[in-house]
Amino acid sequence: MNASTPERRAFHEFVERHRSFLLTSHVNPDGDSLGSEVALALWLRARGKDVRVINDSAVPSAFTFLARHVPLEVFDPELAEQLLEAAEALIVLDVSNRQRIGRLAPLLDRHLVPIAVIDHHASHTRGFGQVSVIEPEASATGEIVYDLIRESGGTLDPALAEALYVALMTDTGSFRYSNTDSPAHRMAADLLSHGLDPERLHAQVHSHASAARMRFFGEVLAALELVEDDRVVVLEASPEQFQRHGLTGSDTETLVDMPRTIAGVEAVVLFSEVEPGKVKVSLRSTGRIVLDGLAAALGGGGHPHAAGATVHGTRAEARARVMPELHRLLAADPVSPGVPDPASPGAPGDARS
Ligand code: AMP
Ligand code: MN
Ligand code: MN
Repeated sequence: MNASTPERRAFHEFVERHRSFLLTSHVNPDGDSLGSEVALALWLRARGKDVRVINDSAVPSAFTFLARHVPLEVFDPELAEQLLEAAEALIVLDVSNRQRIGRLAPLLDRHLVPIAVIDHHASHTRGFGQVSVIEPEASATGEIVYDLIRESGGTLDPALAEALYVALMTDTGSFRYSNTDSPAHRMAADLLSHGLDPERLHAQVHSHASAARMRFFGEVLAALELVEDDRVVVLEASPEQFQRHGLTGSDTETLVDMPRTIAGVEAVVLFSEVEPGKVKVSLRSTGRIVLDGLAAALGGGGHPHAAGATVHGTRAEARARVMPELHRLLAADPVSPGVPDPASPGAPGDARS
Protein backbone atom coordinates (compact mmCIF):
# COMPACT_ATOMS: atom_id res chain seq x y z
CA MET A 1 0.00 0.00 0.00
CA ASN A 2 1.11 3.50 -0.76
CA ALA A 3 -1.07 5.81 1.34
CA SER A 4 -0.17 9.37 0.48
CA THR A 5 -1.28 11.10 3.70
CA PRO A 6 -1.39 10.13 7.40
CA GLU A 7 -5.20 10.47 7.29
CA ARG A 8 -5.46 8.03 4.40
CA ARG A 9 -3.12 5.62 6.17
CA ALA A 10 -5.32 5.86 9.28
CA PHE A 11 -8.32 5.03 7.11
CA HIS A 12 -6.68 1.91 5.68
CA GLU A 13 -5.77 0.82 9.21
CA PHE A 14 -9.38 1.45 10.27
CA VAL A 15 -10.56 -0.87 7.48
CA GLU A 16 -7.99 -3.52 8.46
CA ARG A 17 -9.09 -3.41 12.12
CA HIS A 18 -12.79 -4.14 11.56
CA ARG A 19 -14.72 -6.92 9.94
CA SER A 20 -18.22 -5.48 9.51
CA PHE A 21 -19.19 -2.00 8.38
CA LEU A 22 -22.25 0.19 8.18
CA LEU A 23 -22.10 2.94 5.55
CA THR A 24 -24.19 6.10 5.53
CA SER A 25 -24.35 9.54 3.96
CA HIS A 26 -26.43 12.75 3.98
CA VAL A 27 -30.19 13.36 3.90
CA ASN A 28 -31.62 13.71 0.38
CA PRO A 29 -28.81 11.58 -1.08
CA ASP A 30 -27.28 12.52 -4.43
CA GLY A 31 -25.13 10.82 -7.06
CA ASP A 32 -21.92 11.42 -5.12
CA SER A 33 -23.18 10.13 -1.78
CA LEU A 34 -24.83 7.03 -3.30
CA GLY A 35 -22.09 6.31 -5.84
CA SER A 36 -19.44 6.60 -3.10
CA GLU A 37 -21.39 4.26 -0.82
CA VAL A 38 -21.84 1.63 -3.52
CA ALA A 39 -18.20 1.80 -4.64
CA LEU A 40 -16.87 1.56 -1.09
CA ALA A 41 -19.28 -1.27 -0.26
CA LEU A 42 -18.18 -3.27 -3.32
CA TRP A 43 -14.52 -2.77 -2.45
CA LEU A 44 -15.04 -3.77 1.22
CA ARG A 45 -17.02 -6.83 0.16
CA ALA A 46 -14.24 -7.87 -2.22
CA ARG A 47 -11.96 -7.78 0.83
CA GLY A 48 -14.21 -10.19 2.69
CA LYS A 49 -15.93 -7.62 4.91
CA ASP A 50 -19.63 -7.57 5.80
CA VAL A 51 -21.23 -4.33 4.61
CA ARG A 52 -24.68 -2.75 4.96
CA VAL A 53 -25.73 0.69 3.75
CA ILE A 54 -28.45 2.84 5.33
CA ASN A 55 -29.49 6.41 4.55
CA ASP A 56 -32.00 8.78 6.09
CA SER A 57 -33.94 9.19 2.86
CA ALA A 58 -35.06 6.97 0.00
CA VAL A 59 -32.93 6.66 -3.13
CA PRO A 60 -34.22 9.09 -5.81
CA SER A 61 -35.45 7.29 -8.95
CA ALA A 62 -32.47 8.65 -10.93
CA PHE A 63 -30.12 6.47 -8.85
CA THR A 64 -32.08 3.28 -8.12
CA PHE A 65 -29.97 1.44 -10.73
CA LEU A 66 -26.99 1.80 -8.37
CA ALA A 67 -28.80 -0.40 -5.82
CA ARG A 68 -28.77 -3.52 -8.00
CA HIS A 69 -25.39 -4.66 -6.63
CA VAL A 70 -25.61 -3.27 -3.10
CA PRO A 71 -28.93 -2.84 -1.22
CA LEU A 72 -29.40 0.81 -0.18
CA GLU A 73 -31.64 0.67 2.87
CA VAL A 74 -33.75 3.52 4.21
CA PHE A 75 -33.92 4.65 7.83
CA ASP A 76 -36.36 2.91 10.08
CA PRO A 77 -35.77 3.21 13.86
CA GLU A 78 -35.71 -0.54 14.48
CA LEU A 79 -33.56 -1.35 11.45
CA ALA A 80 -31.10 1.43 12.35
CA GLU A 81 -30.72 0.11 15.92
CA GLN A 82 -30.20 -3.39 14.61
CA LEU A 83 -27.60 -2.37 12.01
CA LEU A 84 -25.68 -0.18 14.48
CA GLU A 85 -25.67 -3.06 16.95
CA ALA A 86 -24.35 -5.49 14.35
CA ALA A 87 -21.66 -3.29 12.75
CA GLU A 88 -18.16 -3.04 14.19
CA ALA A 89 -17.60 0.31 12.52
CA LEU A 90 -19.42 3.12 10.70
CA ILE A 91 -18.18 4.95 7.59
CA VAL A 92 -19.81 8.29 6.81
CA LEU A 93 -19.48 9.63 3.26
CA ASP A 94 -19.97 13.10 1.71
CA VAL A 95 -21.23 14.60 4.99
CA SER A 96 -19.93 17.95 6.25
CA ASN A 97 -21.44 17.84 9.73
CA ARG A 98 -23.01 15.12 11.83
CA GLN A 99 -26.55 16.52 11.67
CA ARG A 100 -26.57 16.05 7.88
CA ILE A 101 -26.70 12.27 8.45
CA GLY A 102 -30.32 12.78 9.54
CA ARG A 103 -32.19 10.47 11.89
CA LEU A 104 -29.23 8.13 12.39
CA ALA A 105 -27.19 10.95 13.98
CA PRO A 106 -28.83 11.00 17.45
CA LEU A 107 -28.45 7.19 17.71
CA LEU A 108 -24.67 7.58 17.50
CA ASP A 109 -24.64 9.08 21.00
CA ARG A 110 -25.83 5.76 22.41
CA HIS A 111 -23.97 3.35 20.13
CA LEU A 112 -20.29 3.97 20.68
CA VAL A 113 -19.34 2.66 17.28
CA PRO A 114 -16.01 3.85 15.83
CA ILE A 115 -16.56 6.27 12.94
CA ALA A 116 -14.50 7.07 9.84
CA VAL A 117 -15.48 10.04 7.66
CA ILE A 118 -14.61 10.64 4.00
CA ASP A 119 -15.68 14.05 2.70
CA HIS A 120 -14.77 16.88 0.31
CA HIS A 121 -16.86 19.80 1.65
CA ALA A 122 -14.90 23.01 2.20
CA SER A 123 -17.21 23.72 5.13
CA HIS A 124 -16.44 20.40 6.79
CA THR A 125 -16.71 20.51 10.58
CA ARG A 126 -13.97 18.30 11.86
CA GLY A 127 -14.39 16.18 14.90
CA PHE A 128 -17.13 13.65 14.43
CA GLY A 129 -14.99 10.76 13.25
CA GLN A 130 -12.08 8.98 14.90
CA VAL A 131 -10.62 8.87 11.38
CA SER A 132 -11.28 11.74 8.97
CA VAL A 133 -10.16 11.89 5.34
CA ILE A 134 -11.25 15.42 4.42
CA GLU A 135 -9.99 16.63 1.06
CA PRO A 136 -11.78 19.78 -0.19
CA GLU A 137 -9.73 19.78 -3.40
CA ALA A 138 -11.43 16.54 -4.48
CA SER A 139 -14.13 17.12 -7.09
CA ALA A 140 -16.35 14.54 -5.42
CA THR A 141 -16.21 12.26 -2.38
CA GLY A 142 -16.10 9.52 -5.03
CA GLU A 143 -12.71 10.82 -6.13
CA ILE A 144 -11.30 10.26 -2.61
CA VAL A 145 -12.85 6.78 -2.55
CA TYR A 146 -11.25 6.11 -5.95
CA ASP A 147 -7.82 7.19 -4.66
CA LEU A 148 -8.21 5.09 -1.49
CA ILE A 149 -9.15 1.99 -3.50
CA ARG A 150 -6.28 2.44 -5.95
CA GLU A 151 -3.63 3.09 -3.35
CA SER A 152 -4.74 -0.07 -1.49
CA GLY A 153 -3.99 -2.05 -4.66
CA GLY A 154 -7.69 -2.77 -5.19
CA THR A 155 -9.01 -3.47 -8.68
CA LEU A 156 -11.97 -1.78 -10.30
CA ASP A 157 -14.68 -3.90 -11.86
CA PRO A 158 -17.43 -2.46 -14.10
CA ALA A 159 -19.94 -2.12 -11.23
CA LEU A 160 -17.46 -0.27 -9.04
CA ALA A 161 -16.31 1.94 -11.94
CA GLU A 162 -19.94 2.77 -12.76
CA ALA A 163 -20.69 3.86 -9.17
CA LEU A 164 -17.59 6.09 -9.09
CA TYR A 165 -18.39 7.56 -12.50
CA VAL A 166 -21.89 8.51 -11.30
CA ALA A 167 -20.38 10.19 -8.21
CA LEU A 168 -17.94 12.21 -10.30
CA MET A 169 -20.32 13.02 -13.14
CA THR A 170 -23.07 14.35 -10.87
CA ASP A 171 -20.87 16.42 -8.53
CA THR A 172 -19.11 18.12 -11.44
CA GLY A 173 -22.43 18.89 -13.19
CA SER A 174 -21.45 16.50 -16.00
CA PHE A 175 -17.90 17.89 -16.13
CA ARG A 176 -19.01 21.53 -16.44
CA TYR A 177 -18.47 23.12 -13.02
CA SER A 178 -15.30 24.76 -11.78
CA ASN A 179 -14.35 21.65 -9.77
CA THR A 180 -13.79 19.85 -13.10
CA ASP A 181 -10.01 19.65 -13.08
CA SER A 182 -7.46 17.40 -14.71
CA PRO A 183 -7.48 14.77 -11.91
CA ALA A 184 -11.27 14.54 -12.43
CA HIS A 185 -10.84 13.97 -16.16
CA ARG A 186 -8.02 11.48 -15.58
CA MET A 187 -10.23 9.57 -13.18
CA ALA A 188 -13.09 9.62 -15.72
CA ALA A 189 -10.76 8.35 -18.45
CA ASP A 190 -9.61 5.47 -16.25
CA LEU A 191 -13.20 4.58 -15.27
CA LEU A 192 -14.32 4.58 -18.92
CA SER A 193 -11.60 2.06 -19.74
CA HIS A 194 -13.59 -0.44 -17.64
CA GLY A 195 -16.28 -0.69 -20.28
CA LEU A 196 -18.73 2.00 -19.13
CA ASP A 197 -21.19 3.58 -21.52
CA PRO A 198 -21.22 7.30 -20.63
CA GLU A 199 -24.23 8.07 -22.83
CA ARG A 200 -26.32 5.40 -21.15
CA LEU A 201 -25.22 6.44 -17.65
CA HIS A 202 -26.01 10.07 -18.38
CA ALA A 203 -29.46 9.11 -19.67
CA GLN A 204 -30.09 6.85 -16.66
CA VAL A 205 -29.38 9.69 -14.27
CA HIS A 206 -30.94 12.56 -16.19
CA SER A 207 -34.12 11.08 -17.69
CA HIS A 208 -36.19 10.77 -14.54
CA ALA A 209 -38.08 14.05 -14.40
CA SER A 210 -41.82 13.69 -13.97
CA ALA A 211 -44.40 15.91 -15.66
CA ALA A 212 -45.38 17.15 -12.18
CA ARG A 213 -41.79 18.21 -11.48
CA MET A 214 -41.55 20.03 -14.81
CA ARG A 215 -44.81 21.93 -14.09
CA PHE A 216 -43.53 22.80 -10.61
CA PHE A 217 -40.24 24.10 -12.09
CA GLY A 218 -42.28 26.11 -14.61
CA GLU A 219 -44.36 27.74 -11.90
CA VAL A 220 -41.38 28.58 -9.70
CA LEU A 221 -39.27 29.90 -12.60
CA ALA A 222 -42.17 31.98 -13.99
CA ALA A 223 -42.24 33.84 -10.68
CA LEU A 224 -38.48 34.49 -10.45
CA GLU A 225 -37.44 37.87 -9.08
CA LEU A 226 -34.34 39.82 -10.07
CA VAL A 227 -32.90 41.96 -7.27
CA GLU A 228 -29.61 43.75 -6.44
CA ASP A 229 -29.40 45.47 -9.85
CA ASP A 230 -30.27 42.19 -11.60
CA ARG A 231 -27.27 40.44 -10.04
CA VAL A 232 -29.34 38.07 -7.90
CA VAL A 233 -32.23 35.77 -8.80
CA VAL A 234 -34.65 34.84 -6.02
CA LEU A 235 -36.94 31.82 -6.32
CA GLU A 236 -39.57 30.70 -3.87
CA ALA A 237 -41.55 27.48 -3.60
CA SER A 238 -44.44 27.19 -1.14
CA PRO A 239 -45.70 24.21 0.86
CA GLU A 240 -48.88 24.40 -1.22
CA GLN A 241 -46.86 23.95 -4.45
CA PHE A 242 -44.92 20.96 -3.09
CA GLN A 243 -48.17 19.39 -1.94
CA ARG A 244 -50.20 20.09 -5.08
CA HIS A 245 -47.51 18.55 -7.32
CA GLY A 246 -46.76 15.69 -4.91
CA LEU A 247 -43.06 16.59 -4.53
CA THR A 248 -40.46 16.61 -1.74
CA GLY A 249 -37.33 18.61 -0.90
CA SER A 250 -35.04 16.50 -3.07
CA ASP A 251 -37.20 17.29 -6.14
CA THR A 252 -35.75 20.82 -6.27
CA GLU A 253 -32.41 19.41 -7.45
CA THR A 254 -31.24 21.33 -10.60
CA LEU A 255 -34.00 23.97 -10.27
CA VAL A 256 -31.69 26.45 -8.54
CA ASP A 257 -29.04 25.95 -11.25
CA MET A 258 -31.26 27.04 -14.12
CA PRO A 259 -31.27 30.85 -13.56
CA ARG A 260 -27.46 30.83 -13.42
CA THR A 261 -27.58 31.02 -17.20
CA ILE A 262 -29.24 34.48 -17.12
CA ALA A 263 -26.68 37.01 -18.36
CA GLY A 264 -25.18 39.11 -15.58
CA VAL A 265 -26.53 37.00 -12.72
CA GLU A 266 -24.01 36.39 -9.92
CA ALA A 267 -26.08 34.44 -7.43
CA VAL A 268 -29.28 32.43 -7.26
CA VAL A 269 -31.15 31.70 -4.06
CA LEU A 270 -34.06 29.31 -3.79
CA PHE A 271 -36.30 29.30 -0.71
CA SER A 272 -38.10 25.96 -0.68
CA GLU A 273 -40.68 25.84 2.10
CA VAL A 274 -41.06 22.10 1.86
CA GLU A 275 -43.42 22.01 4.83
CA PRO A 276 -44.82 25.02 6.72
CA GLY A 277 -42.11 26.56 8.89
CA LYS A 278 -39.19 24.62 7.36
CA VAL A 279 -37.28 26.34 4.54
CA LYS A 280 -34.53 24.67 2.53
CA VAL A 281 -32.26 27.48 1.34
CA SER A 282 -30.18 26.67 -1.77
CA LEU A 283 -27.45 29.10 -2.78
CA ARG A 284 -25.53 29.18 -6.06
CA SER A 285 -22.82 31.55 -7.31
CA THR A 286 -21.82 31.95 -10.93
CA GLY A 287 -18.21 32.17 -9.80
CA ARG A 288 -17.49 35.56 -8.32
CA ILE A 289 -18.93 35.49 -4.83
CA VAL A 290 -18.35 32.79 -2.25
CA LEU A 291 -21.41 31.51 -0.43
CA ASP A 292 -20.44 28.67 1.92
CA GLY A 293 -19.73 31.12 4.77
CA LEU A 294 -23.25 32.51 4.50
CA ALA A 295 -24.69 28.97 4.50
CA ALA A 296 -22.54 28.05 7.51
CA ALA A 297 -23.79 31.13 9.39
CA LEU A 298 -27.32 29.77 8.86
CA GLY A 299 -26.30 26.39 10.30
CA GLY A 300 -25.67 24.76 6.91
CA GLY A 301 -22.63 24.52 4.68
CA GLY A 302 -21.48 23.37 1.27
CA HIS A 303 -18.97 24.50 -1.32
CA PRO A 304 -17.84 28.03 -2.31
CA HIS A 305 -20.23 28.21 -5.26
CA ALA A 306 -22.97 25.84 -4.13
CA ALA A 307 -24.17 25.83 -0.55
CA GLY A 308 -27.31 25.42 1.47
CA ALA A 309 -28.98 25.38 4.84
CA THR A 310 -32.29 24.56 6.45
CA VAL A 311 -33.92 27.50 8.22
CA HIS A 312 -36.81 27.13 10.65
CA GLY A 313 -39.43 29.82 10.06
CA THR A 314 -41.45 31.15 7.16
CA ARG A 315 -40.05 31.96 3.70
CA ALA A 316 -40.28 35.65 4.61
CA GLU A 317 -38.22 35.05 7.75
CA ALA A 318 -35.62 33.06 5.80
CA ARG A 319 -35.43 35.85 3.21
CA ALA A 320 -34.96 38.42 5.96
CA ARG A 321 -31.92 36.48 7.17
CA VAL A 322 -30.37 35.70 3.80
CA MET A 323 -30.92 38.79 1.64
CA PRO A 324 -29.04 41.36 3.78
CA GLU A 325 -26.07 38.96 3.95
CA LEU A 326 -26.13 38.52 0.17
CA HIS A 327 -26.28 42.30 -0.18
CA ARG A 328 -23.19 42.60 2.02
CA LEU A 329 -21.31 39.99 -0.04
CA LEU A 330 -22.14 41.80 -3.28
CA ALA A 331 -21.26 45.20 -1.83
CA ALA A 332 -17.88 43.81 -0.79
CA ASP A 333 -17.29 42.79 -4.40
CA PRO A 334 -18.75 45.54 -6.60
CA VAL A 335 -18.67 45.03 -10.36
CA SER A 336 -20.83 46.20 -13.19
CA PRO A 337 -23.41 43.54 -13.87
CA GLY A 338 -22.52 41.27 -16.74
CA VAL A 339 -18.86 42.22 -16.92
CA PRO A 340 -16.70 39.16 -16.36
CA ASP A 341 -13.43 39.74 -14.58
CA PRO A 342 -10.75 37.75 -16.37
CA ALA A 343 -8.40 38.16 -13.41
CA SER A 344 -10.80 36.41 -11.06
CA PRO A 345 -9.64 32.85 -10.46
CA GLY A 346 -12.37 30.24 -10.49
CA ALA A 347 -12.58 29.01 -6.94
CA PRO A 348 -12.98 25.26 -6.69
CA GLY A 349 -16.35 23.88 -5.73
CA ASP A 350 -19.11 24.94 -8.02
CA ALA A 351 -22.32 23.00 -7.69
CA ARG A 352 -20.92 19.81 -6.34
CA SER A 353 -22.53 18.35 -3.29
P1 AMP B 1 -28.45 22.04 -2.32
O1 AMP B 1 -28.73 23.48 -2.56
O2 AMP B 1 -29.41 21.39 -1.36
O3 AMP B 1 -28.27 21.28 -3.60
O4 AMP B 1 -27.07 21.98 -1.57
C1 AMP B 1 -25.93 22.56 -2.12
C2 AMP B 1 -24.75 22.28 -1.26
O5 AMP B 1 -24.94 22.78 0.05
C3 AMP B 1 -24.40 20.83 -1.08
O6 AMP B 1 -22.99 20.75 -1.13
C4 AMP B 1 -24.88 20.45 0.27
O7 AMP B 1 -24.03 19.48 0.82
C5 AMP B 1 -24.80 21.76 1.02
N1 AMP B 1 -25.93 21.86 1.93
C6 AMP B 1 -27.22 22.03 1.62
N2 AMP B 1 -27.98 22.08 2.71
C7 AMP B 1 -27.15 21.93 3.77
C8 AMP B 1 -27.32 21.89 5.19
N3 AMP B 1 -28.53 21.99 5.76
N4 AMP B 1 -26.22 21.72 5.96
C9 AMP B 1 -24.99 21.60 5.39
N5 AMP B 1 -24.76 21.64 4.06
C10 AMP B 1 -25.82 21.81 3.26
MN1 MN C 1 -23.64 15.13 -1.74
MN1 MN D 1 -20.16 15.50 -2.87
